[in-house]
Amino acid sequence: MNIDYKDLKRGVRCTNCRKLIRVDELFNKRKYLKCHHCKKELNRANIIIQSLEELYLLKGAPFSVKEAEMWTGVSNSAIKRILYKNFKRVGKAKSTKYMSNE
Ligand SMILES: [Zn+2]
Repeated sequence: MNIDYKDLKRGVRCTNCRKLIRVDELFNKRKYLKCHHCKKELNRANIIIQSLEELYLLKGAPFSVKEAEMWTGVSNSAIKRILYKNFKRVGKAKSTKYMSNE
C-alpha cells in the first residue's frame, strides 16, 4: 500500500456513519457529543482514540503529538491527555512518539 497519509482527509469521524465530526463539536468539554449527520451520541474521547488508531495504521509508524494534533484538529492539551492514557509512548522528551497499545 502506497498511500501517503498526509494526503488523506483529516479529522475525527463518527464511528456510526463515518462522516467527519465538526471541529467545534470536538472542542466542546462535555463527555458526549452528538453527530450532526446521524444524530448518534458519541463518547468524545473514544472517537478521538479511534481516529488516532487510524493515523497509526495509515502511517505505519509511531506518530508525534504534533501529527496527532494536525490529524484530528483537537487541541494539544486534550490530545496529550488522551495519548498518555491510551497509547504507548516511545522515545524521550521532544522526540517522544506514540503508538497503539494493541
Ligand atoms: Zn454519525
